[in-house]
Amino acid sequence: ISFSSSDFDFFYFVQQWPGSYCDTRQSCCYPTTGKPDEDFSIHGLWPNYNTGKWPQNCGSQSSLDRSEISDLMSRMHKDWPTLACPTADGMKFWGHEWDKHGTCTSFDQHTYFQFALDLKNKANLLQVLAKSGIRPGNFYGLESIKQAIQEGVGYEPYIDCNVDSEGNHQVFQVYLCVDKSATKFIRCPILPHGRACGSRIEFPSFSSDSNSSHK
Ligand code: 5GP
Ligand code: 5GP
Ligand code: 5GP
Repeated sequence: ISFSSSDFDFFYFVQQWPGSYCDTRQSCCYPTTGKPDEDFSIHGLWPNYNTGKWPQNCGSQSSLDRSEISDLMSRMHKDWPTLACPTADGMKFWGHEWDKHGTCTSFDQHTYFQFALDLKNKANLLQVLAKSGIRPGNFYGLESIKQAIQEGVGYEPYIDCNVDSEGNHQVFQVYLCVDKSATKFIRCPILPHGRACGSRIEFPSFSSDSNSSHK
């Protein structure tokens, strides 16, 4: 049996907080373009089934071609930076996301990446949180973070936590659900399985090099 490349129900749009990616014991590496902004950045736009399962590596389309997304490059570097080590320019991360997830959509490469970039602007998480007084460098209740995003974006997010080098749980990734057209946020049909958050979690800063644990 072969599956059509748009055989899925909805997307998870997953953003990562660079402060939380970088301040774990594993640390991070800034991309060749330099230290990213203190803002959420894109991890991926992942097609999913309502059952919680998902298709991946649908591979019928060719691997990511730099020339297909050349007009999006400055937005890609700003909004979808790679923080994995060793330092890289992003093409490997974006190519991985395309191969694993993008190929399971019906979008071409340009459409897939442009829709993801546009979703980040629509969600505007950093500003949505600031409107509720939630700013990097402090601890907050998990529920107040979720409520602020619910108010600003319209739908409840799922928060994935990790642990910093001192053992504090912190906001690592924010999952929002998106309809099949990749343009509208929706109520999540099913929650992802993420890592536990305490009821009180850190939203660490990523603003100065003084607290940098970057290699
Ligand atoms: P992790 O195990 O670190 O949460 O996820 C590893 C990778 O598996 C993710 O980066 C993503 O590519 C994929 N993945 C994990 N959970 C989900 C999910 O619920 N839906 C989809 N579509 N992919 C997922
Ligand atoms: P996923 O977990 O989406 O399947 O895979 C993410 C892959 O991209 C991993 O191999 C990871 O090392 C690489 N990667 C490169 N840069 C980043 C980044 O900034 N964040 C995450 N989550 N993965 C990255
Ligand atoms: P509830 O049944 O109240 O929705 O939550 C069950 C458990 O999941 C509780 O321990 C609660 O703290 C946790 N939880 C609720 N929302 C989230 C979330 O967005 N992320 C994570 N990691 N845990 C959550």
